[in-house]
Amino acid sequence: MKFEFLKNNPKGPYEGIALSDWTDWRWQLKNSLRTLSAFQKVYELSAEEERGFESSAGIFQIRSTPYYATLGSKTNPQDPIRLIQTPDYKETSVRFQDMLDPLGEESNSVNPRLVHRYPDRVLFLVTDFCSVYCRFCTRKRFTGSNQSFLNEDEYTKALDYIKSHTGIREVILSGGDPLTVSDDIIEDILKDLRRINHIEIIRIGSRMPVVNPYRVTDTLVQIFRKYKPIFFMTHFNHPKELTAESAEAVEKIVDNGTPVMNQMVLLNGINNHPAIIQALSRRLLSLRAKPYYMFQCDPSKGTDHLRTSIQDSLEIQRELWGNISGLAMPNFSIDIPHGGGKTAMVPNFLVERKGDVWNFKGFDGVHAEYIDPDTSVIRKPMDIDDYLEEWNSLKDAKNLNSL
Ligand code: SF4
Repeated sequence: MKFEFLKNNPKGPYEGIALSDWTDWRWQLKNSLRTLSAFQKVYELSAEEERGFESSAGIFQIRSTPYYATLGSKTNPQDPIRLIQTPDYKETSVRFQDMLDPLGEESNSVNPRLVHRYPDRVLFLVTDFCSVYCRFCTRKRFTGSNQSFLNEDEYTKALDYIKSHTGIREVILSGGDPLTVSDDIIEDILKDLRRINHIEIIRIGSRMPVVNPYRVTDTLVQIFRKYKPIFFMTHFNHPKELTAESAEAVEKIVDNGTPVMNQMVLLNGINNHPAIIQALSRRLLSLRAKPYYMFQCDPSKGTDHLRTSIQDSLEIQRELWGNISGLAMPNFSIDIPHGGGKTAMVPNFLVERKGDVWNFKGFDGVHAEYIDPDTSVIRKPMDIDDYLEEWNSLKDAKNLNSL
């Protein structure tokens, strides 16, 4: 089946805007919607929505691009695009687990812009700025905090740390949205990272293909190609976000040699149904973007109304299992609060185990046994010594605090 992706040309208050402006990512940033009156021009806001603008002022910034805002329904307040970007008065209700830093990144910060939680990779917070401030954002302690691009001193410190920790194999450029900075800056960062011999992989996490797809220019994808291997992590949450423009952005990245993977978040009343996840995953896969993670929403401050229960998420995952191709199936994962790291959640198909006999019930009810071989025949692979040094150095790097 060939999917159709619809174009999002200027409409509503933007009708008549020249296409050359509309398709310029900087124009989209310059003309961002930041106030109640700006959103009122695009949507017929309900009284409850208007209340959200008043009450969330000062808690978490409000911003959307004209492109992204006009994907939402003008009249329906329950529209997923509206719910993702318009503030809700419920953001102010503070509950038991509402946290500013649910992933405990502060305690794993080795300097202001670098989080070192896992032994072989670091998170590099390039900027706090985003094109759209998503109401479910995990990193509200930092995102939109007006710190903007990192200064020279922070940059030097971050690079020095990466250089001096040879166990780091991977750098994840994040923020904020790292692609809100210029091509020159992106290229400088990639060039500097590529000069470090032990850095094997660079990941770029960006929601630009979703909220401002014009950012993905021919020049940008050529920069990615130049500093390969780079993996591009994007963040589509709903099939409605997949327009002709965003599809073109994703394909441009892939066509130029950079694999694209998608991380999504399960959101209450927005995408928490297997039919929506299936539609999103199949469409992404048709563009050669691998659905990678389906995250439980972190208990970030002011997101209680947007979170699903773990039970709800598990049921969605169970329904998807076996019914969509493994290629289209994202890994359901929960980030354990306070920096406990990711935990994979998979449906349990094991009914019982009796010694060597494991009894399963498959996704569609088929019962069968898997019987282990005689364990005395289990042996180590040949040439294991050739790889042990690398393995042990990775394990040693786990003692991060002593480094
Ligand atoms: S684009 Fe990412 S970092 Fe920025 S507000 Fe949205 S979720 Fe947070």
